[in-house]
Amino acid sequence: MIELVSQSRCISCHACVLACPQNVFDSVPHAPPVIARPDACQTCFLCELYCPADALYVSPLAHEHEVVDEQQLIAAGLLGSYARAMGWKRGHPGGTENDLTYRMFEEGLIQP
Ligand code: SF4
Ligand code: SF4
Repeated sequence: MIELVSQSRCISCHACVLACPQNVFDSVPHAPPVIARPDACQTCFLCELYCPADALYVSPLAHEHEVVDEQQLIAAGLLGSYARAMGWKRGHPGGTENDLTYRMFEEGLIQP
């Protein structure tokens, strides 16, 4: 179940909002999205896959909430680990980590 949107890592691109098939997130203009409907999460990990900033954590516990600590997740290398394990990011040529389109959000060149 989705447990974390890292406020420090998120670049407010809203890719997770668009990717989520369960409408779990609410967009917030120019800010990280809010986990508005966590119990609707189906633990599909799509948001983690599409996040360009490794800012999300989906717990593999599908039917219960897990209390998470962001620093512990980072220390354990868990943020972004699902995407890497699936071959996204630098797992294969042309992976999402090589797609720098999201930098346009960071630079304010386009709005989410
Ligand atoms: S794991 Fe799937 S259902 Fe849950 S928030 Fe992410 S995209 Fe939505
Ligand atoms: S996809 Fe990642 S960086 Fe983009 S809004 Fe969601 S949590 Fe933030």
